[in-house]
Amino acid sequence: MSISSLSGAEQQAIESVHPRLLIGGEWRDASDGATLLVEDPSTGGPLTSVADATVADGAAALDAAVAAQPDWAATPPRERGEILRRAFDMVIERTEELALLMTLEMGKPLAESRAEIAYGAEFLRWFSEEAVRVSGRYSVAPNGATRLLTLKQPVGPCLMITPWNFPLAMGTRKIAPAVAAGCTMVVKPASLTPLTMLWLAGVMREAGLPDGVLNIVTTSRTGEVMEPLIRDPRLRKLTFTGSTAVGRSLVEQSAEGLLRVSMELGGNAPFVVFDDADLDAAVDGAMLAKMRNIGEACTAANRFIVHESVAQEFGRRLAERMGALRVGRGTGDDVEVGPLVEQKQRDSVAELVTEAVDAGATVLTGGEVPDGAGWFYPPTVLTDVPLTARVATEEIFGPVAPIFTFSTEEEALRMANDTEYGLVGYAFTRDHARVVRVYEGLETGMVGINQGIVSNPAAPFGGVKASGFGREGGSEGIEEYLETKYVGLGGL
Ligand code: NAP
Repeated sequence: MSISSLSGAEQQAIESVHPRLLIGGEWRDASDGATLLVEDPSTGGPLTSVADATVADGAAALDAAVAAQPDWAATPPRERGEILRRAFDMVIERTEELALLMTLEMGKPLAESRAEIAYGAEFLRWFSEEAVRVSGRYSVAPNGATRLLTLKQPVGPCLMITPWNFPLAMGTRKIAPAVAAGCTMVVKPASLTPLTMLWLAGVMREAGLPDGVLNIVTTSRTGEVMEPLIRDPRLRKLTFTGSTAVGRSLVEQSAEGLLRVSMELGGNAPFVVFDDADLDAAVDGAMLAKMRNIGEACTAANRFIVHESVAQEFGRRLAERMGALRVGRGTGDDVEVGPLVEQKQRDSVAELVTEAVDAGATVLTGGEVPDGAGWFYPPTVLTDVPLTARVATEEIFGPVAPIFTFSTEEEALRMANDTEYGLVGYAFTRDHARVVRVYEGLETGMVGINQGIVSNPAAPFGGVKASGFGREGGSEGIEEYLETKYVGLGGL
C-alpha cells in the first residue's frame, strides 16, 4: 500500500504527529536531514517517515534534559502531578485517533490498540497520584545522640529505550513515574513504531510539560546514537524494555557510569493447567495470555503445561477458539488478529513452528504462512511438542500455543521453572493449598492465578533471572526514579 491509498481518517491520524525530534521543546529535523521510513505491517508498504537522529542530535537531547533538570526537580509535586493528570484526560479523549495510528504502524487490531491505550494512559493517572505521596522518615538514633532523617530526591536525567510491541504503554510506564519524581529524560522509541511516542510527546507538551523535560530521539542508528549517551557522565539512569540480548549489552555499557538501571526484558511464560482446574476458565485465560497483542507480549504464555488427563480436551477447545479468530488488517473493526510487526518477526515465528513439526509436533490449527501481502501468521496450536524444541526454549512472540503434558505437581513446577527467563507464570487450579505452593514455587517476578493477565498499573511489573530487574507501576514504580538521602542530625 502506498501512502496515497490510506483512508481520510488514517491520513489524519498520521498527520496528527510531528515527524521530528523533540529536543528542548523544539521539533527539529535530524542534523543531517536523514529520515527513517515507517512501514505498514499489513502490506509491507510505506506509511510515512520521521527524523532519523544523528549522534549530535542524541547529544543535544541529553544537553536539553540536563539543562532542564534543576528547575524540574524544584517544580512542586502537585504541579507535576497535574500535568500527568491532564495528559491522561487528553489521551483518553483522543483514544480513537491514537488507536488508529498505533494500529497502522504496529499492526495490532483496533480493539488491542484501544486496550493498550486504556492501560498505557492509566500510568499517567496512577503516577499523577503518586507524585504527591513521596515522603521520607524521621527517627531517633538507637543511642539517642542524633536524629536520622531520610528524604527522596529525583535520580536525575534518564535515558529510556522502549520496544515496538506496546509503543504507548512501555513509554508511559517509564515517563509517568519519572515526571512524577522530578526527573528529566531522553526517550528513544523503537524504529518500527516511532509515531505513537511522537504523538504522546505532543500531548505531554499540550498538557503543560516544560521544554526539555521530555526529549524524543527517533533513530535507525540506534547503537551509535545511544552508546555515547549511556557513557555520558551526566546521565544518571538507564531504563530499558526490550530483548534480553540487547539488555545484557546495555547493562555492560551502563557499568562505566555506574548508572541506576532498570531492565524489563524477555519472557517465556509457563501456563500451567492442573487436573482440578475449571477448564472453561483455563481456556478463556489461555486465549488472553496467548492472544493479547497477537502474542507479541513479554507476558505472553509461551508454554502450555497441561495435566495429562485434561491435555487433549484443553487442546481441542483451545484450537477451536484460536482457529475461529478473524485475521486481517488491524483497521477492520471485526478483525481479531492483525499482522506481526515485520517480516523478520513473522519468519522467525514460522521457523519455530516448522522446526517443532519436524521434531514431531502435531498441528491442531494454523501452522501455514498465508499467501498475499503483509506479515500475517495464523493462530496456531501445537501438541506433542518435544521439550527441547526451540518453540519451548525461546520467546515465540507470535500467535503460537505449544502444549506439553505433565503428571505430578512437582513435575509441572520443574518444567515451568526450566527456563532462563522469569517474568510471569500462570496457573489454573481450584485447590487453595496448591495455589500457595505454586505462587511460592514459580521463579518469576509475577504470577497470575486463575487469570490470564497480570499487567496492572497499580501493581509492580517486572521479572527475575534473564527477564531483568526493577519494577514498573505500583508504589514501587516511582522508587526507580528516586534516590534516598540520609541526613544524620547531630549537635543536639
Ligand atoms: P529490542 O530489539 O531489544 O529493541 C528494544 C529497543 O532497544 C528498541 O528501541 C531498539 O531500537 C533498541 N535497541 C536495539 N539495539 C540497541 C542497542 N545496541 N543500543 C541501544 N538500544 C538498542 O526488542 P524488541 O524486538 O523491540 O522488543 C521485543 C522484546 O522486548 C521481547 O524480548 C520482549 O519480551 C521484550 N519486552 C519486555 C517487556 C517487559 O516489560 N519485560 C515488555 C515489552 C517487551 P531499534 O528499534 O532502533 O532497533
